[in-house]
Amino acid sequence: MFSTLLSAENDPMGTAISDFYAKGRAGRLRVFSPQFDEDEIPVKTLFRTFSEMPLLEQTALTLAEGKILDVGAGSGCHTLALKEMGKEATAIDISPLSVEVMQSEGIQAYQVDLFDSHFVGQFDTILMLMNGSGIIGKLKNMGAFFERMRHLLAPQGCILMDSSDLRYLFEDEDGSMLIDLAGDYYGELEFTMQYKQVKGKSFDWLYVDFDTLSYYASQFGFKAEKIREGEHYDYLARLTWNGQ
Ligand code: SAH
Repeated sequence: MFSTLLSAENDPMGTAISDFYAKGRAGRLRVFSPQFDEDEIPVKTLFRTFSEMPLLEQTALTLAEGKILDVGAGSGCHTLALKEMGKEATAIDISPLSVEVMQSEGIQAYQVDLFDSHFVGQFDTILMLMNGSGIIGKLKNMGAFFERMRHLLAPQGCILMDSSDLRYLFEDEDGSMLIDLAGDYYGELEFTMQYKQVKGKSFDWLYVDFDTLSYYASQFGFKAEKIREGEHYDYLARLTWNGQ
C-alpha cells in the first residue's frame, strides 16, 4: 500500500542527486505517468538555494519553528536552508542515495519511510514540500497519514505542506469538468522515474485541492489554513494539530 524503503538499484532520483552532488552536473531524470506525456525534472533544481525557491517554499521555511522534520527531503535543500537560518532540522527520505548525500552535507538524515510506525518524535513543524502531499499517495491513506502525524508532532505542532488543485487539467473552457465523478479522485496520479539505466518502481502521488485537504484534516483533529496561493493552482497549507 505505502512506499517502502528503496534500494540503490531502484532509486533513480537518488542516483541523479548523487551524481549531481559528486560532479556538479547530471543526466536527465525522466518522469513517466500513464496520465501524461513524458516529463523531466531538472536535477539542478533539486539543489535549489533559498533565493532560488518558489515563494511558497520560502514562506514555509520562514514559518517553520522549533524542532523541524523535513519529510521526503531529497537532496536536503530545505534542511540546509533551515540550518542557515539557524533552525534545527532533521531529514528523512526512503531514498538511500539521497540520504547518503544529505549525510555528506552534514545533515542529520535518516532513511525512513514516513509511514513506518517505528519512527516517532515530538516535532513542532513537519515540512512536506514540492507537492509534499504526494507522499500520502491516495485519498484513502489520509487517515493513516494523520495518524502518523499525531505520533510525530508535539501537541499544537503543525504540518506545512504544498500541493496543487489539478482541476484545471480536466476543466473545459466553460468551466465544466470533464472528469468522471464516480471515478477515482482527479488528483491521484501514478508515476515512474528513470535516470540513465536506473528505473524505479511505479508509485502513487497525490495532488489535493485545499477544500478536500481541509475536510480530511478536520476529520482527524487538524485545523487547515491556506497560507498562500502560488502562481499556478498551487498553495501552501498549514495543518495544526489540536493535540487530541
Ligand atoms: N522535498 C525535496 C524532494 C522532493 S521529491 C525537494 O523539494 O526538493 C519527493 C521525495 O520524497 C523523494 O526524495 C522521495 O524519495 C521521498 N519519499 C517518497 N515517499 C516517501 C515516504 N513514504 N517517506 C519518506 N520519503 C518519501
